[in-house]
Amino acid sequence: MTRTIHYHLTYTFLTIALPLPSRAAEESRPPNFVVIYADDLGYGDLSCFGHPTIRTPHLDRMAAEGMRFTQFYSAACVCTPSRAALMTGRLPIRNGMCSEKRRVLFPDSGGGIPADEITLAELLKEQGYTTGCFGKWHLGHLPQFLPTKNGFDAYFGIPYSNDMDRLNDVAPKGREAFWNPKVEYWNVPLMRDEEIIERPADQTTITRRYTEEAVKFIQAHKDQPFFVYLPHSMVHIPLFRSPEFEGVSQRGLYGDCVEEVDWSVGQVLETLREEALAENTLVWFSSDNGPWLIFDLHGGSAGVLRDGKGCTWEGGMREPTIAWWPETIPAGEVSLELGSTMDVFCTCAALAGAKIPDDRVIDGVDLTPVLTGEGPSPREHVLYYRGTQLMAIRWGPWKAHYYTQDAYGAGARLRMGQDPPLLFHLGHDPAEKYNVNADHPDVLETIDAIAEAHRKNLDAPPSQLEIPLPTDP
Ligand code: MG
Repeated sequence: MTRTIHYHLTYTFLTIALPLPSRAAEESRPPNFVVIYADDLGYGDLSCFGHPTIRTPHLDRMAAEGMRFTQFYSAACVCTPSRAALMTGRLPIRNGMCSEKRRVLFPDSGGGIPADEITLAELLKEQGYTTGCFGKWHLGHLPQFLPTKNGFDAYFGIPYSNDMDRLNDVAPKGREAFWNPKVEYWNVPLMRDEEIIERPADQTTITRRYTEEAVKFIQAHKDQPFFVYLPHSMVHIPLFRSPEFEGVSQRGLYGDCVEEVDWSVGQVLETLREEALAENTLVWFSSDNGPWLIFDLHGGSAGVLRDGKGCTWEGGMREPTIAWWPETIPAGEVSLELGSTMDVFCTCAALAGAKIPDDRVIDGVDLTPVLTGEGPSPREHVLYYRGTQLMAIRWGPWKAHYYTQDAYGAGARLRMGQDPPLLFHLGHDPAEKYNVNADHPDVLETIDAIAEAHRKNLDAPPSQLEIPLPTDP
């Protein structure tokens, strides 16, 4: 009895004498999260994903120290729906963040991410995280839709794409403006929190400035759990890079811009190492959609995959993805497991100890077993939407196309119904060249059943992308 009291007193004394966080408290601190999201970067645009002339030493090191995913998907083939899915863990069809009429939000759009959606930032804030968004938002530019209204404590970036607000009296006509882009051709605002601080945004230094803001934020908030979302506006056309990256890449302007994004990743990881945060931080790198092939050398490459941005062939939605968390993720792993950017939502939520919302359908799954090397992906299928149309479904290695439509500018753009659906084995045939539907009616039956179950559970609200900007009375 005396002993027990003695220990108790000692414990109390130590607790009072040492106000710094105890070792036990440090160990129970949930991991920090950093999500770096490139724009329109193709599956084949990093050296660790096979590009022969673009050099990405920092992403290559990230992959060597972490896990490279070769079968990881965005939930859409264009910006706005893809970002909505990343932030909510839900297919864009469930929250109105897609449309058949307008592919994305524009400066004349009056819609945005609905207030009742729960973003990853909101979920993590409830768990005590500090949250910052540095880059392109594209989920609504009106005040009620900004990052600061969606769970982020801090925001620095552009509210929509870097090719919007084009000044037609300044810029050359048509695609000419992109071949030799000048900052003054696009009157894109740069915002801090809810204020416009620069217009047009100086896009030549924008990759560097997003990075500096993210690094400062990590340094300032290192003593508490944080979530940093770093959605670069590069390598979406018009392409811009800092003077230090002019002419550095054999791949030309596009390569220069990828290499600056790579530098940015290096800065973030180096900061985490310097601040002794590496072993307690999960960093994701991915892209919002495939390469914009219509822009010739100013667009990227999907490597072996078919087609690019704007379609549901693999090149439109499979993304070069890397996860890094030293001492938790086995170094140098290449994972062939299925993953989706919607799984980032569920994985981070689970690791933070947050409750996944159970009042709505969540399409993400928790990939923690894959990251730790302890088990397979719980993800069994991938749904490929273009706008509001379910175009294709992947189940295991099989992918059935109910509709096909080529990417922007890649020839015929008509949507074609496929009955019976085209069927490809993506293990044997990642380039989707050889239709084998005649040999596998049983596989098509299983995929039909997945489509049927999905439709039964689908409630699609009106599109946010079709809401016009309110006009003053
Ligand atoms: Mg994009």
